Amino acid sequence: MTVYKRMMYILLAAALTAVLLIGCGKKKKASEDDLVGDEEVSDVIATLDGYDNSEGKEDGDENVPVIAAEEIKDPYLEAVDRAAAKGLPAPPDIDVTSWEYILASADHPLPDGYAPPDISHVGSREIPCDSRIADALYSFAVDCQEAGNEVYLSSAYRSYSEQKSLFDAKVEDYGYEEAARIVLPPGTSEHQTGLCCDITDIYRSPKTPSVLEQTETFQWLNAHCEQYGFILRYPEDKQEITDIIYEPWHFRYVGKEAAKYIKDNNLCLEEFLALYGVE
Ligand SMILES: [Zn+2]
Repeated sequence: MTVYKRMMYILLAAALTAVLLIGCGKKKKASEDDLVGDEEVSDVIATLDGYDNSEGKEDGDENVPVIAAEEIKDPYLEAVDRAAAKGLPAPPDIDVTSWEYILASADHPLPDGYAPPDISHVGSREIPCDSRIADALYSFAVDCQEAGNEVYLSSAYRSYSEQKSLFDAKVEDYGYEEAARIVLPPGTSEHQTGLCCDITDIYRSPKTPSVLEQTETFQWLNAHCEQYGFILRYPEDKQEITDIIYEPWHFRYVGKEAAKYIKDNNLCLEEFLALYGVE
């Protein structure tokens, strides 16, 4: 082979390599673009739907996450959209199925036999509550007291059977309908979650909203509750949604993040959870 011919072969080989490299580069770019355009993604899905795995090819594997991302909508982004539709800022990025957000009401009765996983006793009266809120409840009450207020923790956790006895006693005195207005039927009271607490200045029976809301204890609790992760669960202006009378003594733990958002935006728990699709 002459030197000239050898040179020609080397040049030809170099040119072929260059063409192949450019070709590959283009292919790579095109497949990246495929992941962006919706049409292209559905083509990928269509191809994979018809993909026959029996040949043992593994080429399709890298595309599997694309399908997953396409099919599963991010629930948090949906919550952001729902909030925006109501003119609200982005809500906290929370797992709405976590224990802090358990809803107990006539429309959302607790599962049969529900009880907190662990019970702690708080304050000098050692009232029982869900252990997970014990520290927060204790700080909330003690700080209120240290601010110069009287504090009486009257009731936090009530078991299904305690709620049933309370309810049955009222039914005997007043009949079912009237009783249901005063005490919630068993399984529908938030007290069965152990995540709330009735807090007043002194022992009060009956609890009268117009009297309680005037107390300095309530004023302090209402002004600071979100700092401890609590909300006023049954506000006066949300009675049509909660279906519970105004209770300026019933505070519910939801965690600091949710409590702040709920308070800042004047929501009740039902409205807050609806942002995450809980209806
Ligand atoms: Zn209560």
